[in-house]
Amino acid sequence: MTTIQWFPGHMTRARRQIQEKLKLIDIAIELLDARVPLSSRNPMIDDILMNKPRLVLLNKADLADPAVTREWIAYFAASGIEAVPIDAVTGEGVRSIPDRAKHALREKIEAQIRKGMNPRSVRALIVGIPNVGKSTLINRLAGKHVAATGDKPGVTKGQQWIKAGGDLELLDTPGILWPKFDDELVGYRLAAIGSISDLILHVEDVAFHALRSLSATYPQLLKQRYELEEVPAGEAEAHEIVDVMEKIGRKRGCLQSGGSVNLEKASMVVLRDLRGGKLGRISLERPVTVTEAKEARPTS
Ligand code: GDP
Repeated sequence: MTTIQWFPGHMTRARRQIQEKLKLIDIAIELLDARVPLSSRNPMIDDILMNKPRLVLLNKADLADPAVTREWIAYFAASGIEAVPIDAVTGEGVRSIPDRAKHALREKIEAQIRKGMNPRSVRALIVGIPNVGKSTLINRLAGKHVAATGDKPGVTKGQQWIKAGGDLELLDTPGILWPKFDDELVGYRLAAIGSISDLILHVEDVAFHALRSLSATYPQLLKQRYELEEVPAGEAEAHEIVDVMEKIGRKRGCLQSGGSVNLEKASMVVLRDLRGGKLGRISLERPVTVTEAKEARPTS
């Protein structure tokens, strides 16, 4: 995994590069992670994309809870944005992208036709935070390997248009944006899905937060995977979560000398299972959790 260290200079440069590219395109395709659509969203995205027409893709939908993904689609629809679940690896949902892009631009295209103009291909730029699947999607749309994964912001090279089928053309390098940093929960959620290097946040803290969220939202999946009889419901106390982690560690043989559970190893087990979809299809954010979290947080 590539980890970009975002400093203010990088952010300014990334923003400027995307805004330069906006002049060349008709529509921005914003790639989010279906499991954490808000945490995987750049905090300044509306400001950066200005009034460019937009299509939101909820990528890695294969790993997300389909019922929650439907809630997210409704959430975006409420602000006039079409959001489409996709799996960039298998290509599920990807074929509909050119038509969806045209649909988002239909008023402009219809106006061109009324004026007797022959509408040209729709031109798009894919934007998103690192590891959300931009390069995988570009390769999928292009039907060949074109984009080097992990392009760094600030590295300039000649722009090329890639034919993505159905009158859609893409810029070959995606716009790389930074995630939200000022919210601890966002960091833990991104780390839980493996979008932030395990070197940045402590594995045990990341797994602890993930387990707390999972025991509140997917207790059944946890019970099944680790053959647990009980998991704490609702807002669990810290010691209750550590208790579950210990039980998991014991089941999985994560022991250290003396026979106690090695919590770091147990944490790795949980994170590996979560990231690999072994627990089942899981979403760590729902539109309602986001609202509740905002309301619950002190405003001062
Ligand atoms: P980028 O940094 O945004 O260009 O992200 P990459 O395209 O390099 O993808 C990051 C990781 O996510 C890679 O390991 C991909 O195989 C994986 N990935 C991308 N899209 C999907 C998807 O739809 N489903 C799953 N399960 N994995 C995906």
